[in-house]
Amino acid sequence: MVLPYRHEPLTDFTLPDNRRAMTEALGTVRRAMGESYPMRIGGQSVFSDDVIVSTNPGRPDQVVGRVSKAGAAHVDAALAAGWEAFDAFRRQAGTVRARYLYRAAAIMRRRRFELAAWEVYEAGKNWAEADADVAEAIDFLEYYGRQMEELDRPVPLTPLEGEDDTAFYVPLGVGAIIPPWNFPLAILTGMTAGAVVAGNPVVLKPASPTPVIAEQFLRIMEEAGIPDGVINLIPGDGGVIGDYLVSHPRTRFVSFTGSREIGLRINALAAQAGTGQRWIKRVVAEMGGKDAIIVDETADLDDAAQGIVVSAFGFQGQKCSACSRAILVDAVYDKVVDRVVALTEKLRVGQADDPDTDIGPVIDERAFDKIMGYVEWGKAHARLLCGGRRVGDEGYFIAPTVFGDVDPASKLGQEEIFGPVLSVIRARDFDHALEIANGTEYGLTGAVYTRRRDRIEQARAEFEVGNLYINRKCTGAVVGAHPFGGFNLSGTDSKTGSPDYLRLFLQMKAVAERL
Ligand code: NAP
Repeated sequence: MVLPYRHEPLTDFTLPDNRRAMTEALGTVRRAMGESYPMRIGGQSVFSDDVIVSTNPGRPDQVVGRVSKAGAAHVDAALAAGWEAFDAFRRQAGTVRARYLYRAAAIMRRRRFELAAWEVYEAGKNWAEADADVAEAIDFLEYYGRQMEELDRPVPLTPLEGEDDTAFYVPLGVGAIIPPWNFPLAILTGMTAGAVVAGNPVVLKPASPTPVIAEQFLRIMEEAGIPDGVINLIPGDGGVIGDYLVSHPRTRFVSFTGSREIGLRINALAAQAGTGQRWIKRVVAEMGGKDAIIVDETADLDDAAQGIVVSAFGFQGQKCSACSRAILVDAVYDKVVDRVVALTEKLRVGQADDPDTDIGPVIDERAFDKIMGYVEWGKAHARLLCGGRRVGDEGYFIAPTVFGDVDPASKLGQEEIFGPVLSVIRARDFDHALEIANGTEYGLTGAVYTRRRDRIEQARAEFEVGNLYINRKCTGAVVGAHPFGGFNLSGTDSKTGSPDYLRLFLQMKAVAERL
């Protein structure tokens, strides 16, 4: 029996012991960098000549690790290994499978600083963001373990006279897990653990910028005793093996988190039944956002400005939940803008391993070029209020950037930039602000700062997002407290960290026995 689920507390880095522990962990990880890592198929280590060279986005010459890359034959082998493991694994009770997760959570807790240090170097997260990602991974393990124990109980039914009527959940089969790089441990852990605890072996294809963190996760699951073949790790280029994995007739479901473009592609490909395929593939696709924070004339403006800046620039704006639009009613527009710019200019840009850094590098050169493309476009079509430039000449650092008077229908007002770029939009009044907020194809997160109860209720009813926050930032969803997932082209609204999530990887079997 385990304690009830409780959200993992974040590390307080103002305490000297914690600072010391993190500094030591950074040293340990620096010394471990550059190693070569295999794939894992059916519990076997498999090396290939073709490797992903994972580097530190803040110092691109620093190699974090070299990870073997999968090709089509490895995908075939990984799916075969998963199906081989399925028969025994699906027969394990949910309560038994939950224990792999509890044990993995305990190992993560013990290795907390080291895992955070890998994130600092491979993903460019600052200390606090890296620590929060590890805490969230632990939360997913603890939460989904307990959820599976709940789902292991018989489904309540209304039995008929003369029958023994029962229903219970069974797993689907072998699925593909395709996570993004931006929460390289938390999202990867949540997606994998959710499918696995429900009884499904998986083929895990991590995002190419963060494969070493995926390796750390796998080692932890192996140490926790997960049977061979249940988690098959095949790092590789999504553009090369992704379609093959998704379209494969032996892939039973696809759990994807990433961009709108790839999510829609996966949804379309998975809908076509391949030769010999015996099921409709289930697709869980969580995608991007163009998230907005609305501020009205009654709001606490300091609080609102703080919430906007934290939401816009945490992890360099590379969160699906990041605030990329601040929609301010005309009456307070100038006051809020002044505060937002003042707070943004105070943010310190630097290497992620420096404890004083607020803004680290963006993930890679491709992201850097894409974001700077939007910045240059913004300089020509909106009013640059701060930032708008590269910082330093080593690494992919971009000064946090704020554009004012952005046209809500323009590129800056509509497209996900996924970097430290905030568009400020002027609204006539609250109704207009809500109309602008709802005026994109996305619907992931949003926030409203107001003191008016009627407007809070209006936002509850009319702000079309999966995650709405009132008088607080729009990032930082907590497992178990804030079921997370978006509406519209932000995804299939899978609601991670909620009682609904594991059902996505299960099907209900009903058995009626005549007495
Ligand atoms: P991405 O480019 O779409 O990649 C996501 C994953 O898909 C990666 O593992 C990628 O592999 C893989 N992939 C690429 N092409 C593929 C294909 N043809 N078939 C199958 N898989 C393929 O997204 P990202 O840059 O990693 O992540 C950023 C995006 O994720 C943003 O849009 C963000 O909003 C979204 N996101 C959403 C949520 C949410 O909960 N809604 C959470 C986090 C992030 P490679 O790395 O090898 O290309």
